[in-house]
Amino acid sequence: MDSTQKDSRCPKKVLTSLAYYHGVDLLSEEFAKIMDENDPLRHFRERFAFPKNGTLRGSDSNLVDEKSDCIYLCGNSLGLKPKKADEYMQAQLDKWANMGVEMHFEEPLPAALCDRYGREELGHLVGADPSCVTLMNGLSVNLHLLLLSFYQPTNIRYKILLEAHAFPSDRYAVRSQAELRGYNPDEAVIEVSTRPGEQTLRTEDILKVIEDEGESIAVVCMSGVQYYTGQKFDMELITKAAQERGCIVGWDLAHAIGNVELQLDKWNVDFACWCSYKYMNSGPGCIAGAYVNKRHNEREVSHLKGWWSNKEVTRFQMKDECDTAVGVDAFRLCNPPPFLVALVKASLEIFEEAGMTNLLKKQFLLTGYLEHLINTYFHSGQLKAPSCIIITPDDVSQRGCQLSLIFSYPLQEIHKELQKRGVVCDVRLPNAMRVAPAPLYNSFRDVYRFIRILQEVFSICKSEGA
Ligand SMILES: *Cc1c(COP(=O)(O)O)cnc(C)c1O
Repeated sequence: MDSTQKDSRCPKKVLTSLAYYHGVDLLSEEFAKIMDENDPLRHFRERFAFPKNGTLRGSDSNLVDEKSDCIYLCGNSLGLKPKKADEYMQAQLDKWANMGVEMHFEEPLPAALCDRYGREELGHLVGADPSCVTLMNGLSVNLHLLLLSFYQPTNIRYKILLEAHAFPSDRYAVRSQAELRGYNPDEAVIEVSTRPGEQTLRTEDILKVIEDEGESIAVVCMSGVQYYTGQKFDMELITKAAQERGCIVGWDLAHAIGNVELQLDKWNVDFACWCSYKYMNSGPGCIAGAYVNKRHNEREVSHLKGWWSNKEVTRFQMKDECDTAVGVDAFRLCNPPPFLVALVKASLEIFEEAGMTNLLKKQFLLTGYLEHLINTYFHSGQLKAPSCIIITPDDVSQRGCQLSLIFSYPLQEIHKELQKRGVVCDVRLPNAMRVAPAPLYNSFRDVYRFIRILQEVFSICKSEGA
């Protein structure tokens, strides 16, 4: 890599040259304004409902304008509602009211066929042939259904590998799967840890465990982007290394879909699952998704079945024997909820229009801008004054939108003061604050204002602490 290429992967350098080009100070509000004006995706913000300061529980009417939009930096946890969601959901409710059972075959999104929807769009987001993805259930359910098929332990190969401190649901899922098969999860589940004093995992350490223990590992089942640290794992490399050792590889893409580039087909991933309410903006607990590599269509994968596992053409013949569909479709059990698919549609339409490549370009600048401002203002060596460090990797190939911050001051205090001032971001115990500007609806000015407010909060914390 020559130095210009390297510079083009360093947001600070790119932002600095943009500021120079526009003749403004990188730290000025003017810069944020110019970046917003030149942002080709800026209009997408209007397509989302922003909570108002006045309706947020923690806001203080003495400190914020109640009628203004909050500063929403929490798309990692719950993406904002696309305004079209109401219309699409209402259309389904109306159809139910007006047609009853006949809604099953009535456009738009005929109830009985509504899980046809989204294959193309989801395929674009995860880098997969449309036939390899489907909408179904919730994430933890899908993880279990997929593990039930893909975790086929033998005497020699019976372990499951995931990262230490994984999202609890994933940890419970893999441990209970091991238990279900009669293993002691403490022995059968390998959790790869960070090195002492380090916050994120080194790829080489993950590869080392796969190298050393690969022969006893049945399934590698990590998250694509770690929920706590925001670290994106090298899914391609890990998949390849694990498969070379004979392991099956599945990814939990909860924090990855709609956030980072995914190429499941190209990376030859065995299976994957995700929820749709984080960067995917489809609403809390909304219908989730799953992927199964085409390669497994040939192989006999045993799985749990329900009537929806039938091929679509024979599904309503109500045969005693299941005429099982091919690939991921066979994993479906229930008839899908059109109300939820309507929400997914409201969201996926926007992704299609904006395009993941454009979103990633903006993410590079937007999260890089947040990173630069934090490092400029808050990265202080003295622990007495409040300071803050970013634990998310600074290498852009190892992260998405989110930066996870650790403060030298009690986290809950800082969070409370931010909430009073109309900032929405979240806290994850033991001690991280997650801040995630989403390129679909966040602006550079959101980030600028967040930083100004954090400065104000720090000055209060400082005087209170003194
Ligand atoms: C958000 C998230 C979940 C949540 O699971 P649900 O089944 O949707 O409640 C699980 N795993 C990971 C890694 C997550 O980020």
